[in-house]
This record gives sequence, structure tokens and C-alpha cells, in this order.
Amino acid sequence: MVLHTHHNVLLPPLSGRTGRVFAAFIRSRRIPQALLLTGINGIGKSAVATQLALAFNCEEPPRLPVAPEAMDHWSCGKCPSCLTIGSQNHPDILAIAPQNDQIHIETIRTLITQLGFTPYSAIYRFVVIRRAEKMTSSAGNALLKILEEPPPQTHFILTTDRASDLLPTILSRCQILRFQPWPDDVIISHLMDQHNLDPSTATETVKLAAGSPIKASELAINKWFTTQKWAMDALDRVNTLSARQRLVLAQRLAQKKTDLETLLFWFKTVILERLKKETANATPQRTTRQTRKDVQRLIQRYEWVEMTRFYVTTNANRRMVLERMLQGLAADSAPLTLQEY
Ligand SMILES: [Zn+2]
Repeated sequence: MVLHTHHNVLLPPLSGRTGRVFAAFIRSRRIPQALLLTGINGIGKSAVATQLALAFNCEEPPRLPVAPEAMDHWSCGKCPSCLTIGSQNHPDILAIAPQNDQIHIETIRTLITQLGFTPYSAIYRFVVIRRAEKMTSSAGNALLKILEEPPPQTHFILTTDRASDLLPTILSRCQILRFQPWPDDVIISHLMDQHNLDPSTATETVKLAAGSPIKASELAINKWFTTQKWAMDALDRVNTLSARQRLVLAQRLAQKKTDLETLLFWFKTVILERLKKETANATPQRTTRQTRKDVQRLIQRYEWVEMTRFYVTTNANRRMVLERMLQGLAADSAPLTLQEY
């Protein structure tokens, strides 16, 4: 499990209420025993958790006033405490993240045992639980007990993109702080400065990132623009493929990890663009049978891609799901209902 430091990670711009709340924590040297940071994935919630752990344990307290947006000045970054936390070796900064998509009760039990000991050196011990919604209900209940009676000097920071999946009893124990998606212009300048994208590619990339700078960087690193061309090409070619070629393609796609979601997103975008074009051309007077057929076909394709996008996020057999999609796209058939699938 990796905790990021400000040396290699993007820190979110903190503004509005959330920013003011953080500044107040740092100024007063007081922080609630349980915080829940919410907001979409990839906006830097864990990075902020690390900044808090650094700030509260730094041996050179920050010069006041603290600007919430200048998070990398919350701590000195040079004292022994900062260096140990920065290298992710601090025994009093405990980090938990899902394993195989779940946070199990054993993990929380181990944590509780660790918390039974006095902190080694930290004044503020931090427990960071990433993707807290992945706790099983028994794990959640075990955590709740310790949130109700937290050990001294111990502070919990939970992060999630789905607060509604957490036990209400856990929610009620936490102060909830919401992170907004990053402004597009901030991400665009980051893409231009750090990834050398030209302004138009950066502008196109930011549309896919939906406010997440981490997603945007991933897209830039994976050269999504090449993928986009590939996706358009694949869609046009799909009904010329033999069953065997479709199988090979499904296998190739199934091996892609995060890329696959981006690629499916692109299939969807390409289909939608075409659908818009078709419907823009079709006035009631000029709607031909051919247009209606084309629109119908695009809608079916859209449904296939959407259903596939849903299934690849579950535990379904990805290769099989993709094969069904390619088959459906090639045959221009309507997808089955979810139940039949
Ligand atoms: Zn320091």
C-alpha cells in the first residue's frame, strides 16, 4: 500500500468550505478523531490524508497563516518525522486499502491490535483507510467499535467515492469533507506542463478525465489519442472479422486493465457522435428507412457497449463479456436484457 507524498503526487486545489476547514485544523493543531474524505476517484484524497499526517507530526510547525491551497507548506518536508512519513516507513501512520477489492475483518482486527500499543514516536497517530466503502459489513462493525472509543492520540481518515455504501453508524462518527472535481483549466495546464501535450490534445483529454487529474495523467501516459483511433477502426471493422478473430480480439481486450474502461468509453463516445450526426440530418421530411435503420443500429451498439462497461466492473468473465459484445456488434443484434445476460 502506497501513501503519496507531495514530491510525486498532485495535490488538489482546496477552496471553499473544505479548504477553510483544513486551514483551521492546521492553525489550531486540532483535528477530529474521524474524518471522511469524499469525492470521485483520482482527485487526491489520499494525498491530502498524507499531508495531514505530515503537518500534524512535523517537528517544524508551519508558519502561519496557513494557506489551505499551499498544502506542501503545511510541513517542512525535511525533519526526521517528515522524512519517515514521506518514505512510508512511519510506524504510527497506518494505511489500509482493499485487497482483492475488499477490506476484510482480519485487516481491521490486526489494526485494532496495533492500536493497542502506545505510539512509537508520533504525537498524532493516523490511520488512513482508503476506499473505505470496500469494508465488509463485519469489518465495518469492528471499525465502528474502535471509532466509538478511539485510543488516545489516534486519528482516522477514511476516503471514499461512495459514502452511501458505508454503514450509517460509521458516517455519523465522521466529520465529512467533500472534494470537488478539479477545474478543467488546472488539469489542462498540468497536462501541458507535465506531459507536454499540445493545447488541443490537452483540451480533448480533459473531457475524458471528468475532473480527475490522476485519470488525466493516465490518459496522457497511455496516449489515449492512439487508442481513440484504434477504437474507431475496430468498430468499423467488427463485422468483417471471423468468429476466430473476434475471439482473439476479445482476449486481447480482456487483458487490458484500466485501459479497457477507457477504450469502452471511447466506443461509446464514437457511437454517440455518429448517432448525433444521423439524427441531426434526419428531419421528419427527410427521414428515410435507411436513416431509421442506421439509428436503430447505433442505439443497439450503444446498448451493447454500455452493458459491457457495466459488466467489466463486476466479477464477470471479461473475455466472455467482450466476446458477446463483439458478436452482438458484428451481427447488429439487440442485446439481451440484463437478466438474460
Ligand atoms: Zn517536518
